[in-house]
Amino acid sequence: MAAKDASSSSKIDNSCISYLFSDVKYLKGVGPRKAEILNENQINTIFDLFYYIPRRYIDRSQITPVKDLVDGMTATIMGTVIGFGITRGRRSRFVVILEDGEDYIELIWFSGYRYLEKAFAMGDVVLAAGKVTYYERLNIIHPEFEVIGIKDETHEPTEETIHTGRLIPVYPQNADFKNAGLNSRGLRRIIKPALDYLNEHPYDTIPERWRKEYGLPGLSRAIKQAHFPDTFEAADSGRQRLAFEELFYLELVMAGRHKQRELKADGIVLEPPMKHGRQFLDGLGFTLTKAQVRVLNEIYKDMGSKHQMNRLIQGDVGSGKTIVAVLAMLGAIESGYQAALMAPTEILAEQHYYSITDLLAPLEIPIALLTSSIKGRKRNAVMESIASGESSIVIGTHALIEQKVKFSKLGMAVIDEQHRFGVVQRASLHAKGNNPDILVMTATPIPRTLAMTVYGDLDVSVIDEMPPGRIPIDTRYIEENQRNEIYSFIRNKARQGQSVYIVYPLVEKTEKLNLKNATEAYERMKDDIFRDLRVGLLHGQMKSAEKLSVMLAFKNKEIDILVATTIVEVGLDIPSATIMVIEHGEHFGLSQLHQLRGRVGRAGIQSYCFIFTGEKCGEEAQKRINVLTSTNDGFKIAEADLDLRGPGEVLGTRQHGLPELRVANFSDTRLVDLARRLAFQMIEDDPHLLKPENSQIKIILKKRLGHKLRYAKIG
Ligand code: ADP
Ligand code: MG
Repeated sequence: MAAKDASSSSKIDNSCISYLFSDVKYLKGVGPRKAEILNENQINTIFDLFYYIPRRYIDRSQITPVKDLVDGMTATIMGTVIGFGITRGRRSRFVVILEDGEDYIELIWFSGYRYLEKAFAMGDVVLAAGKVTYYERLNIIHPEFEVIGIKDETHEPTEETIHTGRLIPVYPQNADFKNAGLNSRGLRRIIKPALDYLNEHPYDTIPERWRKEYGLPGLSRAIKQAHFPDTFEAADSGRQRLAFEELFYLELVMAGRHKQRELKADGIVLEPPMKHGRQFLDGLGFTLTKAQVRVLNEIYKDMGSKHQMNRLIQGDVGSGKTIVAVLAMLGAIESGYQAALMAPTEILAEQHYYSITDLLAPLEIPIALLTSSIKGRKRNAVMESIASGESSIVIGTHALIEQKVKFSKLGMAVIDEQHRFGVVQRASLHAKGNNPDILVMTATPIPRTLAMTVYGDLDVSVIDEMPPGRIPIDTRYIEENQRNEIYSFIRNKARQGQSVYIVYPLVEKTEKLNLKNATEAYERMKDDIFRDLRVGLLHGQMKSAEKLSVMLAFKNKEIDILVATTIVEVGLDIPSATIMVIEHGEHFGLSQLHQLRGRVGRAGIQSYCFIFTGEKCGEEAQKRINVLTSTNDGFKIAEADLDLRGPGEVLGTRQHGLPELRVANFSDTRLVDLARRLAFQMIEDDPHLLKPENSQIKIILKKRLGHKLRYAKIG
């Protein structure tokens, strides 16, 4: 580690890598207690510490002459110590007197004397910053300070300062950090020497040619500027560089997985459903939209290739994803395999089971349902039929990926509403067959690059067209004084045979929120407001047999008005439903509201969504409701959602098994695009990163991400 020129010797490179990725506990000033707190906050290596970037910077670059100070201003000053010590008055204090050639000021502390007595010497030049007060004379109580040298003619700092006299980093904090002495001051003290090491042993994690081409600063410069910037602009460019790197290594993993699948060619070859497909389509009573056909062709192409399919279908609520999935499953069956469909909730699995059974009735294909509420002998029989291959299609919940469930010959796995499942579950479904083709369906439309990144190595298809004849849902925000009017409107429609949802955010009454409880509302609707109509209740705490019978009754029009909790949010398909009433709309997120609204308007009849709010409807909630009333377009809504909440929240990246981004942001599509393009280019050119010029990247990749991405296998 002694040599200074890192670029000429790979041995030094390696020692630099091992420095960057060594445990923070080896850093000067980090004892066991600090190390523990850092580790608890996902800061394990020195590199992690560099990625713990400031929340903001305080500008202490301007030094104010003492004579210009006034009471109440926040300032940075510089002066020479001409006296210090403890004074005993009514209250003891530690005082340092500074003079800057023109005037005097006192620095005052009420604690920490033992440390302070050692910190100062007569003639020291000190930078101090804080709020100036005037009490008998000018002073600063508990300033940030730094002894920057011994008095000389120029009063220039002899060493670089880290707490004063410049842009000062302020770090994100929690109580543990503070208690362990890892406040901003403590962190600056630890980070600075680590950075000095890097400066003395230049090393970089991004190839020079790219740094040149894309104007990215070198690693140590980027870290320096992100932590101790010369200017705010320099801080930005340092952060950009770190963000790029973070995304690049992440995309490299994605590219590696993608390539691996492509190279392996050990997937199953499945035919499109020539026989069943025709029959099925003829029985539908409608023709597929152009978008459905296009996406199906993309799927058939994947199915027919030797590479395992890993495709995401994005399509707004009601765009007809289910039909597409059923056709893909039919292809698998005709090719002699089984197909599985996994849904996020029991009620949704059941609905898929009944509607697909219905759809496929003429084809006489054996379909099994497996959820956790199917128990005992019945469960054994279902599992047996799956294991023997007797069931061609298996529909279920998470129960499908339990260890005990064995398939005879799984060729196609469909996962509905991906945003509820993570990468891990997807991987377990893989393991159920011999590389079955995987199709993931989601109604959360997000920009394409973002989708490809967030959903890992999936290919993406978009159903960007609604079936014809869909009339935009008339969506309105309803004031409380219009409630009766809305109720008579509902009564009218219900009498004409249209079905109505009334949705509440919670099942149990919580005193704090004082929400109207769905159960209570149900009683009131049934016995009073709509006593002339048939009212049903559906909530998550009902037994699944009960839920199912209520749902079927609603579907068969034995119930006019269904009072429900958010259980109806995802995927329920009741064509006769035309009115969605949302109570306490302020408690729902934007995509949730859109999903709820998507439960109506499925049969070409003008449909309505009425949103009520409680008295305490905040500004953010009002914005969400305004977005909903202004558009029916799921992509626009997703964009607005990204704006309002930020991508981390919207995408639930943690759920997807992606590492938490520290500096980068998925909404920076320009940088995500660049990182993705370069990563895929690199892997295309050198799939296992075996070329000598890529050897460093491979090592860093493993160090940087290897332990965080369980399914990231590369090289
Ligand atoms: P989602 O994409 O939300 O899962 P579904 O697959 O549940 O949508 O389809 C919504 C409704 O639209 C279903 O009742 C389905 O039968 C119907 N549908 C699907 N495709 C078409 C089409 N091409 N033309 C007319 N109706 C269609
Ligand atoms: Mg669906």
